[in-house]
Amino acid sequence: MLNLEDPSLLRQACLIDGEWVDADDGTTDEVTNPADGSVIGHVPAVREAETRRAIAAAEHALVTWRKQSPKARGALLRRWHDLMLTHQEDLAALMTAEQGKPLVEARGEIGFAASFLEWFAEEGRRTYGEVIPSPMEDRRLLVVKQPVGVCAAITPWNFPAAMIARKAGPALAAGCTIVIKPAGQTPYSALAMGELALRAGIPPGVINIVTGDAAVIGGTMTASPAVRKLTFTGSTAIGKLLLRQCADSVKKTSMELGGNAPFIVFDDADLEQAVEGAMLAKFRNAGQTCVCANRLFVQAGIHDAFVERLAARVAALKVGPGTESDTDIGPLIDAAAVEKVEGQLRDAEAKGGQRHGGGERLGGNFLSPAVISGATPEMACFGEETFGPLAPVFRFDGEEEVLTLANDTDYGLAAYCYTRDLGRAWRLSEGLDYGMVGINNGHVSTCEAPFGGVKASGLGREGARQGIEDYLETKYVNMAI
Ligand code: NAP
Repeated sequence: MLNLEDPSLLRQACLIDGEWVDADDGTTDEVTNPADGSVIGHVPAVREAETRRAIAAAEHALVTWRKQSPKARGALLRRWHDLMLTHQEDLAALMTAEQGKPLVEARGEIGFAASFLEWFAEEGRRTYGEVIPSPMEDRRLLVVKQPVGVCAAITPWNFPAAMIARKAGPALAAGCTIVIKPAGQTPYSALAMGELALRAGIPPGVINIVTGDAAVIGGTMTASPAVRKLTFTGSTAIGKLLLRQCADSVKKTSMELGGNAPFIVFDDADLEQAVEGAMLAKFRNAGQTCVCANRLFVQAGIHDAFVERLAARVAALKVGPGTESDTDIGPLIDAAAVEKVEGQLRDAEAKGGQRHGGGERLGGNFLSPAVISGATPEMACFGEETFGPLAPVFRFDGEEEVLTLANDTDYGLAAYCYTRDLGRAWRLSEGLDYGMVGINNGHVSTCEAPFGGVKASGLGREGARQGIEDYLETKYVNMAI
């Protein structure tokens, strides 16, 4: 049972124009705990009409919100940030209940989410324009930055708070208003953030949150001419569908999509550092992160020692409910996620891979983490995003060979490389076709740096100074004097 210090953070209604509302027809969707299948509660199953009202509220609120000074908007965002930290324990408990991740990771995510609100509270004040030296004596050429307008955001279940903060933070700081549709499996983190946004004094209609059928809500958002931008984090398949839907009304889009990260370890790497980096890059959130190491490439000279040490570290991981303090790996999000990992494991073993323990179903959505050696490009785990606790290790000999293998994917989100050779570190960071590269480091995300991918991993960047640009239009003014 959820035992929140502040029970009113468990909101079971949609936030439209500053009011908590149910679906027009009263229908709801059940939200369950992936650790034990218990029902946490119900949220409204809204459809077109409610979504249109949320968009209208955002359109109405935009008129005054965009006129507020960036400093005033920043002050509200900072208050929202402070409230998230004040209620960090309750927000973490809600997240672990609906998402499954260990409490320590959930707490960490709340801090990470809040950091985007703080960062963009400041960045809003630095959305500078330009004065261009004019080629004509009687003209002045100016460039100003203005908010895009009403934004729609669709977010996934794996980081239920951070993915919202990374979108709402820059949107609001830039002077936009927003309608958010959180993932059906993790609406409570979003709704609690909505409650705290209201308490922070963010005006009605600036943030709206709707829950319900994804295709209906997404279709209504993308069809609406009032929505000027869609920002999406989720699978590449849905991202492509939404891009097509946005074409008719020519919306701006930001797409944070799937990944297939290579994790490359050269013979000259620090073995201990590389294994610890792999643990973090692969097994955080039970392997359910878009920047997860998906394919571990290890050079022949260090390969056996790496596999042995990795397998030992993985065998020591504790699998259990996120609420237990010694849990390292919580449940996967649902049965389909477990089946996907099991399918990749079976495929790898059928094609000659050797399993070093793990891969056992432990009841419900619990699966023990596994290491496979002898992995090859013919295996499903080479081409598909695993999104679970399976680490396939591929042996390689040379730098050119591994660069070709690493880039042999449609995705291009994050890549990792371990080497102590400075020249190689540069060559790899330039040669890897990815939006982000970690060198001797298995964790790259921070609000100060631009997060995002190339190729089928998406469009645009979140966080950093680039993160607010995606919510701004560039206007050019030519003035005769
Ligand atoms: P998903 O199925 O694409 O779902 C993401 C969101 O899209 C959810 O809110 C979902 O709603 C919604 N959705 C589903 N079908 C839709 C439709 N027809 N129209 C509009 N919205 C629709 O992805 P997921 O399985 O939840 O998330 C995992 C994926 O996200 C992975 O591929 C991962 O790599 C990616 N991801 C990327 C990043 C990044 O920054 N690049 C970060 C995190 C995750 P419902 O939940 O209600 O179905």
